[in-house]
Amino acid sequence: MKRIAMFCIPAHGHTNPMLPVAAELVKRGNTVRFYSFDEFGEKIAATGAEFVSLSGFLPDLTEKEEQGLKAVKITEMTKQDIRITILLNDFFAEEFAGFKPDVVYSDSACFWGKLNAWKFGVPLVVSTSTFAFNQMSSQYMKHSPAEMADLIFGLPKMNAEMKKLEPLGYKTKGFLSLVASDNDTDSVVYTSKGFQPFAETFSDHYLFMGPSLRTNTAPDKDKPRPLIYISMGTVINDRPDFYKNCIAALGGMNADVVISCGKTVDISSFGSLPENIRMYPTVDQLDVLSKADVFITHCGMNSVSESLYMAAPMVLYPQTGEQEAVARRVREIGAGEYLKDDSADGIKTAVTNILENAAFAKAARECCDELRACPGVSGAAEFIENAPHTSDAPDPLKALNSESGRYMWVFRIAVVILVALTWVFLGKGYLWIIGVIVGVFSTPIRNAVSRYVFRKNYPGRTAAGA
Ligand code: UDP
Repeated sequence: MKRIAMFCIPAHGHTNPMLPVAAELVKRGNTVRFYSFDEFGEKIAATGAEFVSLSGFLPDLTEKEEQGLKAVKITEMTKQDIRITILLNDFFAEEFAGFKPDVVYSDSACFWGKLNAWKFGVPLVVSTSTFAFNQMSSQYMKHSPAEMADLIFGLPKMNAEMKKLEPLGYKTKGFLSLVASDNDTDSVVYTSKGFQPFAETFSDHYLFMGPSLRTNTAPDKDKPRPLIYISMGTVINDRPDFYKNCIAALGGMNADVVISCGKTVDISSFGSLPENIRMYPTVDQLDVLSKADVFITHCGMNSVSESLYMAAPMVLYPQTGEQEAVARRVREIGAGEYLKDDSADGIKTAVTNILENAAFAKAARECCDELRACPGVSGAAEFIENAPHTSDAPDPLKALNSESGRYMWVFRIAVVILVALTWVFLGKGYLWIIGVIVGVFSTPIRNAVSRYVFRKNYPGRTAAGA
């Protein structure tokens, strides 16, 4: 029996997959204390874990800060993460001394969980509510120009903010080392090895447990007419324009349509709905998905996992770089197709394509079978109880990097030759052109080389879309 301290940021998508694990840990006789926020208190308490509210420590936000968080801006989230960690410093010093946890189970984006585990020398297991992202799998992300600008201009600021943590005894090697998945940290990922991109590049410190769900519901698609389900998740769901297009596209179709629009959208503003469409602020998503034949989704990791677990193929409508990565992987396994045009006509075309092409449902069913064969919540509970884990196996990513490094010498030599030729034939004044070429092309070339080396070492594993 262990004392386990659980930590999560105030977000449903991050909290939800931790709940079945908490319930399982409690069921197995562990003492579980879950640090979270009032909004999540009821569902945490329902797992049997002791809920400890941190709501009193949440700082007041300016309107700009609030907008930044709502838009899931990395710089704003990091700033607030650090701010909360500092505000919680004295509280957690007392908690760790009093509760004396044997293991910390912390969400990957929850700085105060990870940093306090390191500070107090308690074994850490990271809960990864998206894909595990390392230098290979992050190639699946495609950031918008606004996200790129936020990242590039924000990185020095974020690293400067991190420096505020040092005097309080928190050790970090900068922002990226705190948020990226690494091969030395015990981590639980809520998907299968088959669905995780570049799964072979992750070490034995990773448990791919499959979707974290406690349900006996199995997919059941037997009904008189198809069911189409639409949800944009729980964060960026304030999209009345999009729901309006869905209603125009699918109203009167020979199918039932359920729209979960979130709590901020005024359902009465859509007037009287067509007979085949029902709209709710929130639904029992697993139950709806078990019967759904198409899911129009923003591609949050939980929603996609739940959809695959219930064998529902998808229309993919990602809104962030992270969701884009999930969408690309769904498309790659053939269980969905992008919504290329979000007008009413575009939505109708995309839904009809999924309904009329049985290959999508077949791919979703195959992934469903694979996810249901994963270790699940009992496997995750055992993994957490037994942390820290040791492994003698060589780090697969290091091996790939050292092979890629040899190929990169060709690129480096080409740059030296280019510099020499430019100098001789055009003159020193033109060398800046080489600088620009190297700046623009070195990352794509390094990524292409690493994908080539991956495919050479693991033939048959797709990863072709990256
Ligand atoms: N969800 C739900 N009912 C709804 C809409 C969403 O229970 O009507 C749940 C869904 O089952 C999933 C979570 O909210 O577990 C959404 O998480 P996801 O990672 O997909 O997206 P996020 O909300 O974090 O963007």
